[in-house]
Amino acid sequence: MLITYDEFRVRADGVMAEIAAACAAAGRDPREVSLLAVTKTHPAAAADYAARYGLAAVGENRVQEGVEKRAQTTAAVRWELIGHLQSNKARLAAEHFDRVQSVDSEKLLRLLDRAAGELGRTLPVLLQINAGRDPAKFGAELEDAPALLAAALALPHLRVDGLMTIAPLSEDPAVAMNTFANLRELRNRLAAATGTSLRELSMGMSGDFAAAIAAGSTQVRIGTALFGSRT
Ligand SMILES: *Cc1c(COP(=O)(O)O)cnc(C)c1O
Repeated sequence: MLITYDEFRVRADGVMAEIAAACAAAGRDPREVSLLAVTKTHPAAAADYAARYGLAAVGENRVQEGVEKRAQTTAAVRWELIGHLQSNKARLAAEHFDRVQSVDSEKLLRLLDRAAGELGRTLPVLLQINAGRDPAKFGAELEDAPALLAAALALPHLRVDGLMTIAPLSEDPAVAMNTFANLRELRNRLAAATGTSLRELSMGMSGDFAAAIAAGSTQVRIGTALFGSRT
């Protein structure tokens, strides 16, 4: 059951206030941090809520679910894929998503580039990095990131906006803080080495977004705090 729009608005106001507070504490301009509404498992109306509230983008973690919902709404939002992408869904993802955040292999890069070329478009992507060295998480290893970025930059139909990570689940807040610091340091190194800005750092979820903003996040991906728990 999706919450009502009024309930969503109260929750979204609360999240926006927390983002503003985290930015203030870090001496950052809140306009540097965007809020991606994670609508996975919720009906397409969740994307309508996001649009009505004025959010620019929603995140889905499964290709098929995102494609189906997108067809059910005219919500003026961008759709971003944030979940693991299988090779056999690369073409569908390139066709129906405005950006793919979960690119973690050269194989996926090549498949997405080819599909984007055939579709006559440039596909924005983020490289997903396992910056917390979590055996349970997808994402390229920190050591493999330079080669992955070099491969991405060589492909004509992809545009690399930056990096994405998911912090390991942990009781210890230091684990998420270290993960986010790792991603920011990696971005700074790669940007300097390649002369690209890699501006986007997609990091932070409902439980850890303040720490992510302190570490330099430019996009927090929030589901639970906006829509309630996923049952
Ligand atoms: C589900 C999901 C989120 C949102 O998680 P919440 O804890 O509900 O805010 C963010 N990023 C990814 C990759 C997800 O799969």
